[in-house]
Amino acid sequence: MTVPHPRPTQLRVEVTRQPVAGRCPECHAEELHAYPVLSEEGWIDAVKCARCLCSASRTPGPRLGPITLLSDTIPRGRAA
Ligand SMILES: [Zn+2]
Repeated sequence: MTVPHPRPTQLRVEVTRQPVAGRCPECHAEELHAYPVLSEEGWIDAVKCARCLCSASRTPGPRLGPITLLSDTIPRGRAA
């Protein structure tokens, strides 16, 4: 089975960075942004400083990043 992946139409592909209140733990700049990061650990929901790239927080993100499986949308923890 072939899954089509169309080529991006824009020159550069970027993620949307959401501004977050707070200060960087390293340089104390008030320039924190939240965005998904693909690291060696898998997808991470990170809050990083826009000035020095220090990570203010890193939490495990969606297993496949921007791809959501139907099975991932089923609520867990409730017995039938
Ligand atoms: Zn910083």
